[in-house]
Amino acid sequence: MTNQWKEYLNAYREAHGRPPAYLTETMGCQMNERDSETIAGLLCDLGCAPAASREEADIIVVNTCSVRENADNRFFGMLGRIKKIKEARPDTVTAVCGCMMQQQHIVDAIKERYPWVDIVFGTHNLHEFPGLLQSAALEKAKAVLIRDEGGEIVEGLPSKRKSPFKAYVNVMYGCDNHCTYCIVPYTRGRERSRRPAAVEREVRALAADGVKEILLLGQNVNSYRGRDEGSAGAENGGLAEGCCGAEGGKLDFPGLIGRLNAIEGIERIRFMTSHPKDLSQRLIDAYRDCGKLCGAIHLPVQSGSSRVLARMNRRYTKEAYLELIERLRATSPDIAITTDFIVGFPGETQADFEETMDLIERVRFDSAFTFLYSKRKGTPAAAYADEVPEDVKHRRFDRMVERLNAITAEKNRACIGRAEIVLAEGPSKTNPAMMTGRTDSGKLVHFRAPAECAGRMLPVRITGARTFSLYGELT
Ligand code: SF4
Repeated sequence: MTNQWKEYLNAYREAHGRPPAYLTETMGCQMNERDSETIAGLLCDLGCAPAASREEADIIVVNTCSVRENADNRFFGMLGRIKKIKEARPDTVTAVCGCMMQQQHIVDAIKERYPWVDIVFGTHNLHEFPGLLQSAALEKAKAVLIRDEGGEIVEGLPSKRKSPFKAYVNVMYGCDNHCTYCIVPYTRGRERSRRPAAVEREVRALAADGVKEILLLGQNVNSYRGRDEGSAGAENGGLAEGCCGAEGGKLDFPGLIGRLNAIEGIERIRFMTSHPKDLSQRLIDAYRDCGKLCGAIHLPVQSGSSRVLARMNRRYTKEAYLELIERLRATSPDIAITTDFIVGFPGETQADFEETMDLIERVRFDSAFTFLYSKRKGTPAAAYADEVPEDVKHRRFDRMVERLNAITAEKNRACIGRAEIVLAEGPSKTNPAMMTGRTDSGKLVHFRAPAECAGRMLPVRITGARTFSLYGELT
């Protein structure tokens, strides 16, 4: 913290009787949620405090997503509303960051048409935000700084987590896969894996801080390869050393899970997101060998047509995906499998769509995120001419969602009568009298329990089911 900033803080406290208040608004995926926790940590380190609402915030940071067109539209709509706040309180500092800011045409648009935005930074330079904030707040200067590529991974940045007992842990950044519809490789850059020792250190600190469950994050965690200086003094959970987890001094993802599995205090390990082409037998075996690895996998398939998968540059076929599912279920019969689908990719025929519906029947996913294809400027697929008409897209989408939800509901009904261990997360958003939490397989459960049970792993018998959640009672 610079002396200038200290003076600014003191003057601010004297004038307002409180420190500057900040608000982070996050759009998009868990990677963005994690980045916003870092931005909040940086702001707390600068002596700022969380604001309850946009209207009370002196510093507003919008962390953007660019995965689909409607995300862009939502962002520009939000900037319009922030303009009113800025007009009412001109000293409010507004900052924008995230995936949209890694696209020059967006940054140009902000400079030209949204002059009330003070700071623009990207996905590769969160650590530079404090400096940008100080020049914007102290010198009233516009601060725009975008890094094209992510350099050395900056470790040890502060973080203000949303949950006291669950935590996001980045294991890698970027993606080298270049699926033809996806903007991520252009906004998050090349794949870079954190060193295993750094991840272990972070997870040890989280465990010491009372965290029970970690969600390991990466655009494609399966291709994790961390430069390994050997385990940070921890006894290894079997899978790490000695079973060629570390090749050429680089530890693979199952090896990393093996190490984290040995850390005292952590009770559950989850990860997001996997690419089917990189799902190894070693990772499948980790579900058998690592007791803390939760029985659930999110394995985006996108389409059930091998022809469409090839045009998406997904590099696996329908048959290969089905074979992976078979191997997963052979090792972990009760594993919960969720996925992503894109409907209406350019050139998708009715026959392609029927292939997708067939895959849904053969896999019977526990749940799925479903998206209408959205053209992204700068992606190869944006140049594909053979677009699927909107009405056809919507008709297919509705039919797919109806079938997926029916299967999800059937699978949830099959849970009735089961005894589950649930990590109690806090009062239910829909009914504060109920506690809510998730089973090992990731299913949402509502059950009656005193508020002080939050953060505990509790035995719950499932007594009822809805499409997207379960009901239970403490046993
Ligand atoms: S794997 Fe494909 S869809 Fe996923 S982030 Fe990488 S390029 Fe995008």
